[in-house]
Order: sequence, then structure tokens, then C-alpha cells
Amino acid sequence: DLAERVPESAIPELNQLSVSFNSMASSLGDVEQRRRELVSDLTHELRTPLTVMRGYLEELADGRIEGTPELYLRLIRETRRLERLIHDLQELSKAEAGYLSIDSQKLNLHPLLSSLVDRFADQLLEEGPSLILDCPEDIPLVFGDRDRTEQILVNLLGNAIRYTELGSIVVKATKQHRQVWISVTDTGVGIAEDDLPYVFERFWRADPSRSSHSGGTGIGLAIARRLVELQGGKIEVESKLGKGSIFRFCLPVA
Ligand code: ADP
Repeated sequence: DLAERVPESAIPELNQLSVSFNSMASSLGDVEQRRRELVSDLTHELRTPLTVMRGYLEELADGRIEGTPELYLRLIRETRRLERLIHDLQELSKAEAGYLSIDSQKLNLHPLLSSLVDRFADQLLEEGPSLILDCPEDIPLVFGDRDRTEQILVNLLGNAIRYTELGSIVVKATKQHRQVWISVTDTGVGIAEDDLPYVFERFWRADPSRSSHSGGTGIGLAIARRLVELQGGKIEVESKLGKGSIFRFCLPVA
């Protein structure tokens, strides 16, 4: 910690210095601004679970709280959050640097979508939304990377489930001209119109979900967009606050 290593008397000067650095930096234009925001978002995201964990561990060490199973579960949850964040960041930086290899081949979407839907259906609670597949068995083959397409869908389905309490989530595939569009439609919380332009930006999260309880990292859709683009497709969103959302992407017919 820098503050611990500098003498007290130097702190006003340091503050002054940081004020002038900030004002210099603010004139450096959008790219630099965006980069700084990113670093600060990232720092915040990484620090939050660490702070929670340190707090509990200190109280445990001092004997102020008991090591109950619930407490350990909470600590594990925070550890998982950190792991997920680091994993997502790794994927995102690989995708952005173009290091993710894309191995596009003729791909049959029907078995891919039905196995994904089965897998996610197992995670849903009985009182939660239902998960429906709407894909003709003879959907034309597309040209795409199986693993990457699955990863996109895992992100979209994970979100649909996370942000939908009741109703239904429909995974649909339809051919349109030379493309197959794959959509995930939910009846969940939806996204405000003003927020829609930002949903694919990394670290962006709608306000009510900023708290850690949603478990989100704001990276999933940025990765999804990159993976769609790397396969030559595009991704779109339509949504109404309080009503639900449709995320869809296309892949070329093989
Ligand atoms: P996160 O890990 O936070 O879900 P994403 O990049 O996947 O990150 O999504 C960014 C934000 O977009 C979410 O935090 C949420 O506010 C909003 N969002 C994404 N998918 C949905 C959805 N199906 N319904 C409502 N809001 C969504």
C-alpha cells in the first residue's frame, strides 16, 4: 500500500499530483478514458469478493464468529465468483486478442440445441420458468465452430435463467435466406431501452443486478458477441423492461 510507505507530510503533494494526473489524463481522449474505466471496473470486481472473504476470515481468526457450514459455503461462493471472473476475463482477452481458435465446420444445430436444453432444464427449479426447444429436426447445417457456438448459447441461456423468475425460456432456430438465426427468448426482468446499446459492452450490468447476488460479471455477452463475430455472424437484442428479452445470433448456412 503506497500510503503506508510515504511520509505523512508528502501526502498533500501526492494528492495534488494525482489531481493533476487525472486532469491530464482526462484530456487524452476516449480510448485512454475507456481503458482507465476498464481497469477501475476490473479492480472493483476483483476486490469485492476478496473484501468479503477477508472480513469473514478476520472475524473467524478473532473468534468473533463461529465457523458454521453456512459461513464456509459463503466463503466458497465468493471463491467461485473470483474463479468465474478470472475465467471469463481470460476468455474475453483471448477472444479480443484473436487467440481463440475458430474451427468452423458443417454443424448440425438440432442435436447441439437439444442436448443443451436438456442440460439446462435439469438446473431449473420446478416453480421456475419452463425451457422449450423450438427447432425443426431438419434445420439446415450451418458453418460454425461447435464449441464456440455452445459457449455462446451457454452464456445466453445462463442469462435467460438468471434474469427470469417465471414464464418460459424458448430456444429457437429458424432458417432465413442464407442464414440460420438462433434465438433465446425469455419472460424475465427485461432491459430498459436506454440500456440496450450497452449490453454487449464488457463489465456493463443493468443497475438492479449490480449487486453481487445476481452472480453476474458483465462479461458473458461481450464474449458471446466476439465469438459470434469471429464466426462471421452477428448478434442482436430486443427487450422490454419487465416483459422479457430476445437475444439472437446468426450463422451462415453451410
Ligand atoms: P452478467 O454476467 O452480469 O450476466 P452479461 O455480459 O452476460 O453479464 O450481461 C450483462 C448485463 O445485461 C447483465 O448484468 C444484465 O443486466 C443484462 N442482461 C443480460 N441478459 C439478460 C436477460 N436475458 N434479461 C435481462 N437482463 C439481461
